[in-house]
Amino acid sequence: MQGKILIVDAISTNRIVLKVKLASAFYEVIQASTADEACVAALRHAPDLIISAMALPDGDAAGLCGRLHRNPQTRAIPMMVVACRPNNTSRIAALEAGVQDVMAKPIDDTLLLARVRSLIRAHNTAAEWQMRDDTSRALGFAEDTADFGPPGRAVLVTTDTKAAQQWMQTLRPLLRASLFHSTPETALRDLAPGRVPDVFIMILEEGDTHSGEVLRLLAAVRATAITRHAGILVVQPRTDPGLGAYALDLGADDLMTDGFEENELVLRTKALMRRKRIADQLRATVRTGLKAAVSDPLTGLHNRRYAIPHLTRVAEHSAATGRSFAVMVADLDHFKQINDVYGHASGDAVLVEAARRLRESLRGVDMLARIGGEEFLIVMPATPFSEARVTASRLCRKIGSEGFDVPGANEPVNVTVSIGVTMGGTGKLRGLTNEIPSALDLLDAADKALYEAKLQGRNQVNLARPAA
Ligand code: GH3
Ligand code: MG
Ligand code: MG
Repeated sequence: MQGKILIVDAISTNRIVLKVKLASAFYEVIQASTADEACVAALRHAPDLIISAMALPDGDAAGLCGRLHRNPQTRAIPMMVVACRPNNTSRIAALEAGVQDVMAKPIDDTLLLARVRSLIRAHNTAAEWQMRDDTSRALGFAEDTADFGPPGRAVLVTTDTKAAQQWMQTLRPLLRASLFHSTPETALRDLAPGRVPDVFIMILEEGDTHSGEVLRLLAAVRATAITRHAGILVVQPRTDPGLGAYALDLGADDLMTDGFEENELVLRTKALMRRKRIADQLRATVRTGLKAAVSDPLTGLHNRRYAIPHLTRVAEHSAATGRSFAVMVADLDHFKQINDVYGHASGDAVLVEAARRLRESLRGVDMLARIGGEEFLIVMPATPFSEARVTASRLCRKIGSEGFDVPGANEPVNVTVSIGVTMGGTGKLRGLTNEIPSALDLLDAADKALYEAKLQGRNQVNLARPAA
């Protein structure tokens, strides 16, 4: 099943004709004959798309769209309208209410299905991000972002510079976004990070060469990392359903099939900007959430959830390259006393400073994570035994040789650390074993070495005996 579509039309033959078209493309179809019925069906079936007639017995498509938008459970469902001879007023009213498209009958089947695919694709993507955002929020990682920001940027892509100037003059006051002009050849050139358009308005012109250029640009915008989330509105000078359908399938978000009409173009561009802004916010929340999920909020270091899979990867990589790596567990000595004497907040300050000193003494490729209260894991890829030993001693000195400034203490407080070290990737080098040690095996070996260091008096490094 490709998706679920709710058809809303009072005339049953209209519903049946549309249903046959959609069912033959493997969509599941639900039907309603009034706006009231549509609201109930939308709630019950959560369709991926609603296709409505313009006029309904109990209102019109714009009214239905407004009702659906007021309910958070149906707000995100995209809606398109099929109308006999939509006049400009009702068309604009529908778009203003939040309808994504108004298609005039007779409807070209290819274009209809391309439009349906495009709307459902956008809806599904948004729904997936929304779900991940909900998870981030449930985990407490989301930061609330205001629904405003810098004004958006739109670019008008056309080879006709003269027409572009006129259109820009007309559009600028209506759009409240920065608008500039570009040609298909230059649209993707020199896109500095702050200058990436939120929406590309691509004007198709008569002639195959030109439409080829625009469609190539469309595909390139979708394939380029910094522009792939931009909105794309394609404007056709005259109706050409085949070309329109092709543009939608290439990744256009929206299509105007009857040439340049300023009010409609402004509404559609604004809708794309809004959609892009919301999607950007959702992605940012998910990114923040992901980062928060693998970091330790106190020290900013990685946490255990990140560290263990990372160690697994380092071990696998080492097995492939034959280069050894070092695994260390560093544990602050008598840390409990610091808490007891100076208070928990001072203990925290010591942890932050210890993390800073350790990080400072390691290479960029080395991973440092806080895996327990006052316990740190260090993974040094591509490192021979001699270098690991030198580094561990340096880390030990870095902590122990200079006191820590602690709130509540008159003098710098002495802090020391014990470090257990084990090597990975050495067995294979010696032809002893072909097995890749698991991250937990390595951690266990380093822990045992750490335990020895504690037994032998703390403030020292202990190296695990290499496997026999
Ligand atoms: P050892 O030398 O044997 O490691 O002794 P220790 O006192 O360092 O070890 P122990 O495991 O007995 O105590 C660790 C203490 O670390 C106990 C706990 O209250 C404290 N701790 C754990 N997490 C935090 C934290 O996030 N902040 C602070 N301030 N203290 C913490
Ligand atoms: Mg300790
Ligand atoms: Mg400990």
